[in-house]
Amino acid sequence: MITRATLFLKAEWANARLRIGHVVLFVAAVCISLIAISIWGVFNSLEYHLHDKEIEMSNLSKTLSSSIAATLTQVDTVILGIQGQVEIEGAGSETLKRLGGMLRNQQKSLPQVHGFFIYDEQGRWLFNSNGAIPLDANNADRDYFIYHREHASNALFIGPSIRSRSTSDWVMTLSRRLNHPDGSFAGVVVATLYLDYFLSLYDGIDMGENGLINLTSATGHIVVRKPFREADIGTDISTGEVFALLTPGASSGIATIRSFIDKVERVISFQRVNGYPLVVIAAFDKNEILADWRSESFAGFLIASVLLLILSFLGYRLIRLMSQQIQAQKDLQRSEENYIEANRALGQLALEDGMTGLPNRRKFDLFMSTEISKAKCTSSDVALIMIDVDFFKSYNDCYGHVQGDECLRTVSAIIRKYITREGDLAARYGGEEFAIVLLDTDYVGAFIIAEKIRTEVERRSIQHSESPINIVTVSAGISALSGSKMDTPEDLIDIADKALYVAKNSGRNRTVISNHFSGAPA
Ligand code: GH3
Ligand code: MG
Ligand code: MG
Repeated sequence: MITRATLFLKAEWANARLRIGHVVLFVAAVCISLIAISIWGVFNSLEYHLHDKEIEMSNLSKTLSSSIAATLTQVDTVILGIQGQVEIEGAGSETLKRLGGMLRNQQKSLPQVHGFFIYDEQGRWLFNSNGAIPLDANNADRDYFIYHREHASNALFIGPSIRSRSTSDWVMTLSRRLNHPDGSFAGVVVATLYLDYFLSLYDGIDMGENGLINLTSATGHIVVRKPFREADIGTDISTGEVFALLTPGASSGIATIRSFIDKVERVISFQRVNGYPLVVIAAFDKNEILADWRSESFAGFLIASVLLLILSFLGYRLIRLMSQQIQAQKDLQRSEENYIEANRALGQLALEDGMTGLPNRRKFDLFMSTEISKAKCTSSDVALIMIDVDFFKSYNDCYGHVQGDECLRTVSAIIRKYITREGDLAARYGGEEFAIVLLDTDYVGAFIIAEKIRTEVERRSIQHSESPINIVTVSAGISALSGSKMDTPEDLIDIADKALYVAKNSGRNRTVISNHFSGAPA
């Protein structure tokens, strides 16, 4: 049975389910957003780390390049002075003596300088700022010497790094050609710079495990490299990717490149040294950048995971609580329905005779008082049939109570068979007595129905050895509303009872109509 309360509760469930749906959606949306933000953060941080390192490398190569340019300019200024003096005054002993004094002083203020040297057109040593000239020393085989002898240009030449013949130190050479007054080759003036000086410039710069700083010639030969390895000096890297990027117009650049020498992928920045045929390359191992990024990302991932767990747990608890609430509401509803059903069944039981299934005396009384009141208002007919099983006491005595009950059920079924009209009522009045209320029916109609029931019982021929005709029979008494406003249910029952009494006394197994107007049963 659907009550208003049931409908209300069902609407409440639907709302609660909708609310759960919203909570699930909300929790899912927050979780997905958190995951998306974390992923975005991780990739953004990767970009940031790489970009940050690129900028760091770029600044480093620029700073180093400026510093190297300044150093070279200082030294070249001295070389130019020597070149001018020797070309004007010649390389006589007086000139060389004066130069010696001056250059030794210069050298003190230029810690990067390993020495100043002058060679004649044969490559013989004319001057060594560090002191004595080795016997029979000749530098005609040096690259710078050959270069200047072959090239008339008096521009600065930076040769490949070499090991000094006088001190065995690794040095970089800066040289200019000396000319005779007629322009012919007169020798070379050379300044040598400690490679250690360049390495000391790089000290204190954290390049990680696999980072490197290269100073290379514009032709792609390594001049000096940190970390320092003798074997790398002079190595040709002009075929590498860095030099592919170093087009004639490009003075600097940034790229991520895998080294063809050690196969390490690095973020590199290159920068030409302004005014000199040199290039500074600063490179940082990409894997080391990624390691920083990974540890940062891992921390972020951990925090996000914890948040996700807390959020999922809270969401789960909330959804569970809401589901439990719905379940409780359902249980409540079910109990209410059960309660209503139980009440209905109890009500039914209170108005029904358990043995025959017919309405009981209580129902009959209620029905009678309602219908008679109605009938009196509408002046309609109501007839009452009282039926009683004949000699039933002796039936019980003879066949026992169980058989007696069965007999009463058979009679009830016959009564029910003929009382089918909506509005009529057949009830068990008590014991083996039945009462039938027929609406809009007069004596005649009631008599016909009573006779149908009586004859059907007779026809069934239920054996009753104590009855004069050996079968179970019933007697019926009929009353009907008189049309008087004074009629009561009790009057009607009493009159029908009297008619029944007459039927009994007249031999039983018959129907008697009471005519209480005439005061005597018909
Ligand atoms: P009469 O023909 O005059 O009606 O005789 P009777 O024996 O039927 O009348 P009486 O009222 O003396 O007996 C009624 C009997 O019906 C008494 C009782 O044992 C029996 N009875 C009443 N209710 C039940 C019942 O529910 N089951 C059974 N088996 N017997 C019942
Ligand atoms: Mg009786
Ligand atoms: Mg009887």
